[in-house]
Amino acid sequence: MALPNDRAPLAEQIERLLSTEGPLPLVTAGHPVLRRPAARYEGQLDAALLARFVEALRLTMHAAPGVGLAAPQVGVGLRIAVIEDPAPVPDEVRVARGRVPQPFRVLVNPSYEGTGPARAAFYEGCLSVPGYQAVVSRHAEVRLRGEDEHGRAVDEVFTGWPARIVQHETDHLDGMLYLDRAEPRSLASNQAMADFWAEPAPVEAARALGFDLPG
Ligand code: ZN
Repeated sequence: MALPNDRAPLAEQIERLLSTEGPLPLVTAGHPVLRRPAARYEGQLDAALLARFVEALRLTMHAAPGVGLAAPQVGVGLRIAVIEDPAPVPDEVRVARGRVPQPFRVLVNPSYEGTGPARAAFYEGCLSVPGYQAVVSRHAEVRLRGEDEHGRAVDEVFTGWPARIVQHETDHLDGMLYLDRAEPRSLASNQAMADFWAEPAPVEAARALGFDLPG
């Protein structure tokens, strides 16, 4: 008897997910799929199903709304993520955070490394950890390697906010949440963020809440 094809369960899972219209349901912290390293994408889905899945990820990211979404966040343990950020922010925020527009991209089997010692620390949040934000010190610039949705090699340097997004999403594929890298004392509810910490950089927050910033 032939062993079951290991493509089938994933493809079936995704077909089931796509059988209802609209944004996909998001899984949240505590779901084990967010804590397992995702499997490399190696053609487990045929081209048409991959394209439909990517489109559903994009729709779900827009609806949330968010600037990135990784497959484990919809319960699928594959190394696939989408990013897109129109960056509708005031000039002072764009300058402080390097938050420049990031066009839609699909990251397949991504990995990253810092290009130098520079760090950037800002508040960030996650669709799988609703209601909170925390300061995460990350590489200011990273070299991202992987593939796109057509299997073409990607080897590209990201800086500013897009660098933060690709690190956050790639971490999801390694079973990490941003909280694993966050300054615990910076944790703030969205309400507290709105009330106190709208500043472009978390300098006052670090002072008032008692955590360190790099540099
Ligand atoms: Zn996230």
